[in-house]
Amino acid sequence: MDSERIDCVVIGAGVIGLAVARALAVAGREVVVIEAEAAIGTQTSSRNSEVIHAGIYYPKDSLKARLCVAGRDMLYRYCDDHGVAHRRCGKLIVAAAATEEPELARIAVAAAANGVADLRRLDAAALRAIEPALCGSAALLSPSTGIIDSHGLMLAYQGDAEDRGAMISFNSPVEGGRVAAQAVELAIGGAAPMRLVCRSVVNAAGLAAAGVASSLAGFPSRYVPRQWLARGNYFTLSTPPPFARLIYPVPEPGGLGVHLTLDLAGRARFGPDVEWIDTVDYGVDPARGERFYAAIRRYWPELPDGALEPGYAGIRPKLGPPGAPPQDFIVQGPGDHGVPGLVNLYGIESPGLTASLAIADLVTALLHEGS
Ligand SMILES: Cc1cc2nc3c(=O)[nH]c(=O)nc-3n(C[C@H](O)[C@H](O)[C@H](O)COP(=O)(O)OP(=O)(O)OC[C@H]3O[C@@H](n4cnc5c(N)ncnc54)[C@H](O)[C@@H]3O)c2cc1C
Repeated sequence: MDSERIDCVVIGAGVIGLAVARALAVAGREVVVIEAEAAIGTQTSSRNSEVIHAGIYYPKDSLKARLCVAGRDMLYRYCDDHGVAHRRCGKLIVAAAATEEPELARIAVAAAANGVADLRRLDAAALRAIEPALCGSAALLSPSTGIIDSHGLMLAYQGDAEDRGAMISFNSPVEGGRVAAQAVELAIGGAAPMRLVCRSVVNAAGLAAAGVASSLAGFPSRYVPRQWLARGNYFTLSTPPPFARLIYPVPEPGGLGVHLTLDLAGRARFGPDVEWIDTVDYGVDPARGERFYAAIRRYWPELPDGALEPGYAGIRPKLGPPGAPPQDFIVQGPGDHGVPGLVNLYGIESPGLTASLAIADLVTALLHEGS
């Protein structure tokens, strides 16, 4: 079997792997991205809400809060500079009744602690003035929330990385490997199996990241977190939406509630909900749409009967079981697990897309420290 020495290998060509490959290539490293599928972004990175999150809900000082707020600003700048389609459309968090208004106040305090300083409180009249179809007693307006063409973003990251010499090898699943004294060796399967001897490896395999880390002989298993899968199902609206902004109810236990997001073409989708599953399966059960109607009509009473159609689903790599408190991202470098040159990324659910550039900078810094 062929064997090759490489400076940096990034496992996975989702938005995170591509952002990391770009950052490493910009830093002057030789980079090869190893991707199991035949194209970039076929998994979670193309099965999400495409929202540029402001950073409102995450616990203060968590990686999610810090990387979302920093990454959001970097992402808006990157989109402007690279012509990636996006729109700073804003988002409303709506209290359907006065009893939910204290929750809005709590959200505003948490957001301010994260550095989200631009939330504005709207009363019922102000809300009706900007979104006449919306029903609520008050709302928070987040002007810095937006939407983005996630595939366009990934193509831009890929182009930037390739312009600086990075390469992507498709149809190349990492099937195992081992941790050696001064290198990480990877066994690549596919049509032309080979062995790569790498100075640095970034494991950005998304839902498969924990499995990839476990498959490296010599990597201490105590550093591989247990993972659960939570599918998020979307239902699309078959009629044009009467809204110009993203609409969220106040959060419910375990999720953000059935919310409306828009794509850049102006189409609306509702979701994602939370459905715990055992294996990766992207099928959407049409019956789950029933509970969407009642939830949506709390803030949009005029939702027509029969207007929702099963859409698509994405799967969150969860680091806690159903009912557990929300878990933070894990960005695990040599200083954490003791293996030089290896960074593992676990639990990169939302806001991973928003945070991608900030995550890439963090990974680059961890590899630099460890070299
Ligand atoms: C329902 C849902 C909604 C979301 N909405 C938003 C949102 O609105 N805004 C936001 O900021 N974030 C959102 N997110 C989060 C965001 O989508 C993810 O954080 C991001 O896409 C994760 O990217 P990734 O590159 O880590 O994973 P992926 O996109 O899954 O990429 C991993 C890649 O690794 C490859 N791979 C796997 N195993 C191997 C192997 N053994 N060898 C080689 N390659 C391998 C896969 O084929 C894949 O291409 C959402 C997530 C979900 C699930």
